[in-house]
Amino acid sequence: MSALVYLDYAATTPVDPRVAEAMSRHLTLDGIFANPASRSHMLGWQAEQAVEGARRQVADAIGADPREIVWTSGATEADNLALTGLLRGCRARGRHLVTSIVEHKAVVDTATALEAEGFEVTWLTPGRDGRVTPEQLREALRPDTVLVSLMAVNNELGCMHDLAALAEVAHAGGAAFHVDAAQAVGRIPLDVERLGIDLLSLSGHKAYGPKGIGALYVRRHPDIRVEALIHGGGHERGMRSGTLPTHQIVGMGEAIALTTAEGEADQARITGLRDRLLAGLADLDGIHRNTDLAVSVPNILNLAFEGVDGESLLMALRDIALSTGSACNSASVEPSYVLKGIGVPRSLALASLRFSFGRFTTEADIDQALASLHHALTGLRR
Ligand SMILES: *Cc1c(COP(=O)(O)O)cnc(C)c1O
Repeated sequence: MSALVYLDYAATTPVDPRVAEAMSRHLTLDGIFANPASRSHMLGWQAEQAVEGARRQVADAIGADPREIVWTSGATEADNLALTGLLRGCRARGRHLVTSIVEHKAVVDTATALEAEGFEVTWLTPGRDGRVTPEQLREALRPDTVLVSLMAVNNELGCMHDLAALAEVAHAGGAAFHVDAAQAVGRIPLDVERLGIDLLSLSGHKAYGPKGIGALYVRRHPDIRVEALIHGGGHERGMRSGTLPTHQIVGMGEAIALTTAEGEADQARITGLRDRLLAGLADLDGIHRNTDLAVSVPNILNLAFEGVDGESLLMALRDIALSTGSACNSASVEPSYVLKGIGVPRSLALASLRFSFGRFTTEADIDQALASLHHALTGLRR
């Protein structure tokens, strides 16, 4: 049997060897292992320098000032801090949040928890392409709207929001604009100034960095007040306490810098791989695209295979690692809430698979996936 082909980059990416090498220099006694908050010795200063260098790398990648970057444990925590921290911090101004039903669970479940806490949420339903329009957002805004949260790139579909247009509408209505960019960094250009983004969530492990590290960009502006969720030593300008994990942070900084520098070339190559997969499936009937290619990144492709069950297809594709919808939902047999949210019929949603490609995907991987798909589909449909 041939080696396993990894086509699940949207669930997580492998750490780039260059990133792993940088991390390994920040762990052991002969490396830079000290507490970056230690002010009384050279080793602490070195660790602080490493952390601040990484902070600059992340800030540079999104056009921010390093002082606007808050380290978190991942994009989940960054989303929690953005939504809960800002709504609690801006209580005096209003208590209304606008988001969509196809956001990542880190936003959906946080917004639901805020509803239970007495805040009000308007849940927008996107179009079939997975996107909320600026007009929809304009209609949802109220005088007491404090925050709008919409993702840059949807993790199940790959569709991209028109961030600049949405930010403009949010700001015209007096609301701050939060963007979950976990799937976007290195895939599309991100500049918080040009796009008008006030808060932006990032994850290390979606960008060839380690798991367990992320960041929240928080615009320095008197209206953007974020209350801490984790209390302790007052690290990160009081917004997120806890000893900074130097090796994770160095890894994330390096990963984000690399993926920003190489993203455009990666995406051009990946477009070719995606098109190779689509061309290789053209002779099969009953394949529906849940991803609208015209408005989506090339590295995520969601397809429905009419007449088969997604779970059975996944089982039959033993040599291919991919997922039905999002990984967080694979334990349940309910169709993906994202596919349901854009109006995919239940039977097709249950027959859908998400292919996601990345830096290390090859033509041979695509060809192996095509051979397996043909074999599996012919068997299951017989
Ligand atoms: C993966 C992902 C998250 C969660 O990130 P973690 O770093 O794993 O917590 C949040 N939002 C989106 C869009 C994601 O793809």
